[in-house]
Amino acid sequence: MKAVLDHVGIAVKDLQAALAFYRDALGLAVEAPEDVSSQRVRAHFIPVNDTADRGTGAPGVKLELLEATSADSAIAKYIEKRGPGLHHITLRVDDISAALAQLKARGARLVDEQPRAGAEGALVAFIHPSSAHGVLVELKQSRVPSPESQVVSTVRRYQLGEFELISVCDGFFRLDGGAMFGVVPKALWSKAAPPDDRNRIRMAMRPLIVRGRRTMLIDAGLGDKDDEKFHEIYGVDRARNLDHTLAEAGLSPDDIDIVLASHLHFDHAGGFTVRDASGRIRPKFRGAQYVIRRGEWEDATHPHERNRASYIAGNFVPLADAGVLQFVDDDQTIMPGVRVRRTGGHCMHHQMVLIESGGSTAAFVADLIPTTAHLSAPWIMGYDLYPMDTLAAKKAFLQEAVQKNILVFFEHDPAVPAGYIREENGKRRIVPALS
Ligand SMILES: [Zn+2]
Ligand SMILES: [Zn+2]
Repeated sequence: MKAVLDHVGIAVKDLQAALAFYRDALGLAVEAPEDVSSQRVRAHFIPVNDTADRGTGAPGVKLELLEATSADSAIAKYIEKRGPGLHHITLRVDDISAALAQLKARGARLVDEQPRAGAEGALVAFIHPSSAHGVLVELKQSRVPSPESQVVSTVRRYQLGEFELISVCDGFFRLDGGAMFGVVPKALWSKAAPPDDRNRIRMAMRPLIVRGRRTMLIDAGLGDKDDEKFHEIYGVDRARNLDHTLAEAGLSPDDIDIVLASHLHFDHAGGFTVRDASGRIRPKFRGAQYVIRRGEWEDATHPHERNRASYIAGNFVPLADAGVLQFVDDDQTIMPGVRVRRTGGHCMHHQMVLIESGGSTAAFVADLIPTTAHLSAPWIMGYDLYPMDTLAAKKAFLQEAVQKNILVFFEHDPAVPAGYIREENGKRRIVPALS
């Protein structure tokens, strides 16, 4: 493991006084602050590398002034206990997961068993001071953005009446192209969704935030409980994931009041739970009620040979144990302006979500129309348990979407989070919505 000094974190009680020293008295340049909302902290970076290092492209060493943005943040607690001062040092590594595994194997005590989202889209994890001779050490793996994921996995915001709709992203995965398009021949679907050398197509996981008086999250992506074999089979790319995009949207998991499930397949419900340091699985959104359709719960907890691979008990059973479940039995309003509608088809109790405000309507259609390539009525997934029901629900919805000018969210589209469906001369097409 090669590690280089990235920055030194300094807990600051009085930011103006600290700036008067570091910026004004020492004459250092302070970069624009960045909020790390998951940590309730604002970071002010100060480059302190030798001028000779500049221009080489290598990131230089920085000081990081850490200002608490909430009384319950770790930094506020640290200052309360020990006063302001040196807080941590950060070492940059190439592969943070490998570094954590190596430390764990040597018996080091870790604050974070799994890397999590830090500033600048990086992945970070803390090592406990008791294993680092009294120093809190942070490991950091800089984001290596593929140009592709950078463009399409950023947060998109849309205003719908009184609601703000924020499309977030839990990264990407790959599924067999044949299975994704059912009876459609590869000669046709491969033009709309080019397969890789294993015949898999790239799909995003885009949960949706609905912000009104309360904050709702619809679906939560894959989450981070899966092992390497799973990641290999499904080509999982979560270098930028739900934590990063929530932070970019200015939200932390604790800000979510309601989590609503379209259905409980692993690419939608995996992010509902997390494994904590003791190995126990608990709800990820600690202040949230989880709203699930009762029929879907019954099916997910009693899987059969055809749907078993899609339902992973750890994604939803711990919610019942934690007492945070709320069942809905039929089509109804979940919070004012937001209602669910059963579509069936994909699975018996698959539901879409309709959001209405100020005379406008948006629809989160989940696996009814997973990507923009599934616009044509017979382009239906081979995974669907009841494809004729999908066909009926899809045809009815497409007509409604054209008539009412509905803003449609495509949960799995690798490039287009949302768009409007237009019909001209009997042909339908999608016009991507500008956020
Ligand atoms: Zn599904
Ligand atoms: Zn899906």
